[in-house]
Amino acid sequence: MRTQVGIVGAGPAGLLLSQLLHLRGIETVILERRSREYVEGRIRAGVLEQGTVDLLNKAQVGERMRRVGLVHEGIELSFGGRRHRIDFRALTGKAVTVYGQTELTKDLIGARLAAGGKIVFEAEDVSVHDFDRDRPKLRFRKGGRAHVLSCDFIGGCDGFHGVCRASVPRDALTTYERTYPFAWLGILAETPPVSDELIYCQHERGFALFSMRSPSLSRLYIQCAPDENLDEWPDARIWDELRARLGGDAAEALQSGPSLEKSIAPMRSFVAEPMRFGRLFLAGDAAHIVPPTGAKGLNLAAADVRVLARALTEFYASGRTGLIEAYSDACLRRVWKAQRFSWWMTSMLHRFPERQPFDDRLQLAELDYVTGSIAASTALAENYVGLPLD
Ligand SMILES: Cc1cc2nc3c(=O)[nH]c(=O)nc-3n(C[C@H](O)[C@H](O)[C@H](O)COP(=O)(O)OP(=O)(O)OC[C@H]3O[C@@H](n4cnc5c(N)ncnc54)[C@H](O)[C@@H]3O)c2cc1C
Repeated sequence: MRTQVGIVGAGPAGLLLSQLLHLRGIETVILERRSREYVEGRIRAGVLEQGTVDLLNKAQVGERMRRVGLVHEGIELSFGGRRHRIDFRALTGKAVTVYGQTELTKDLIGARLAAGGKIVFEAEDVSVHDFDRDRPKLRFRKGGRAHVLSCDFIGGCDGFHGVCRASVPRDALTTYERTYPFAWLGILAETPPVSDELIYCQHERGFALFSMRSPSLSRLYIQCAPDENLDEWPDARIWDELRARLGGDAAEALQSGPSLEKSIAPMRSFVAEPMRFGRLFLAGDAAHIVPPTGAKGLNLAAADVRVLARALTEFYASGRTGLIEAYSDACLRRVWKAQRFSWWMTSMLHRFPERQPFDDRLQLAELDYVTGSIAASTALAENYVGLPLD
């Protein structure tokens, strides 16, 4: 088996890379460990930056997103018993779109398969070889048989626990990591959102986020301990906690509904440098993780593959390797700014177990400043809607 670009992972990064390359006449094969149903049903991110929306439209997969995605022109910050709006449109001229990762994944898989693209689902024991030479290879098993896929380049789009980053010699990789002393307990519930826009709550009981996937589907989160036991959180307890952290009239308006999914997500910041090793490129969560407070994970994955698709297009069109060599640095500049923003939002809104009263006062002062100053709210808004792509 042979292709131009072998891609490991059919998450947003791998699928979008395959689609962008296809539109430039470059052939790919995607190897995905899970089944199509599993990948399409995995509930994760939901907020798309304007640049990501533009990229998906350019990639010809934006039709359903334009139809059912919810355009949000601001968010609310809730603290000290009051809610304050950050008006993205007025401050930056831009907006974000709420469109679930599950839907985006379905659109991308549908587009790839309709165009005859090759995705090998349930590929087992994928391994990465010879990426320091001209002809890298991917080995895998499918249906009990061993296969070899030889290619010109490998897209390592296999997420945080994937095989690509793990195949890089340890001394070639530098990693930076921060784990946070809390996690998010999230539920997807069949109930209308309590507000048209996302509400980020700073509260003495801990952070809460009120978000949505559609006009009838809410996605709600509460800060919890990293080792929290989900069994101790029946739905009724979660709704009580959400109401307590939201407070005011909104808490009374919050309607409970059946939960369709319930999970605990750890909070971590992680970056691996560099993002290229010979002919292997890491993209998306394979190279970096952000805490979800800034809604940046999926957007960073999209930004990486945009840079990568350009670099590979230039190579196949002219043989030039300039953009390939610049790939890692170009991505990391954006990655670190998104890390900074995600860390800052996380620090401003969560309750840290070891905090001192002084820290509490600083946190409130920061929120007061961010919501009271045009300069500070513009800084939040321009990062949230996404820094320019270049
Ligand atoms: C529980 C959870 C909640 C999240 N919530 C948010 C959120 O609210 N907002 C936000 O912005 N971001 C969120 N994120 C992050 C966001 O979902 C990711 O940043 C995004 O999915 C990154 O896309 P990706 O394609 O790089 O990686 P992934 O989506 O992880 O895709 C990687 C793919 O590679 C496959 N794979 C892994 N190993 C192998 C292997 N050995 N062989 C073959 N295939 C393999 C996996 O099955 C997967 O399909 C969340 C992440 C998690 C885990």
